[in-house]
Amino acid sequence: MSVFRGDWPFSRSAGVAMFIEIHELEFHPVDFDEQFRPGAIDLGTDFRQVSDLHTDGRAQLVEEHHGKHQKIKDIRLNGKLGTRIELPCARCLEPVVQDVKREFDLLYRPLGADAGREELSVTSAEAEVGYYRGEGLLLEDALREQVLLAVPLKAICREDCKGLCPHCGVNLNHEQCSCEEPADDPRWSALKDIRDKLQH
Ligand SMILES: [Zn+2]
Ligand SMILES: [Zn+2]
Repeated sequence: MSVFRGDWPFSRSAGVAMFIEIHELEFHPVDFDEQFRPGAIDLGTDFRQVSDLHTDGRAQLVEEHHGKHQKIKDIRLNGKLGTRIELPCARCLEPVVQDVKREFDLLYRPLGADAGREELSVTSAEAEVGYYRGEGLLLEDALREQVLLAVPLKAICREDCKGLCPHCGVNLNHEQCSCEEPADDPRWSALKDIRDKLQH
């Protein structure tokens, strides 16, 4: 089984969505191996995707039996993704490029399948459970979620980044300003503690 892949601009990197249909999974698993150019998946504005997102893996149908007569069709999606993103250094605000990699093994259940149900018959190995609506799942939606989970909340450009001067705002990695910086002097911090106590 293979999914059509042409060369750019005919591949999905041109922005064509990949919809994983439950109807197709009923016949066979669907393997995917896709590239998404920056912008093809809306990742919000907190960071910038700076290289193609590559993903490969497999989607397959998992049938859950609820009671004697009810069969629930879940989509299991497993694979990996990798891309590079750029976000501002938490100290100096210069752009930092980071590799983002993630393996995923997800189970999507039909929306509403769990309504009123206390117990899930999902094994504990399949910890990550999501929901799909209607006839299937848009691969991009799953990837968006996985990228957002993989992106660090904070990045620093280097371990010893000196950051911005809190007084004048210069980038202390590039230049030295003439502001006094008393915070590192223990005598000053002792004084500051006393002052803080007096104020409360
Ligand atoms: Zn920095
Ligand atoms: Zn300064």
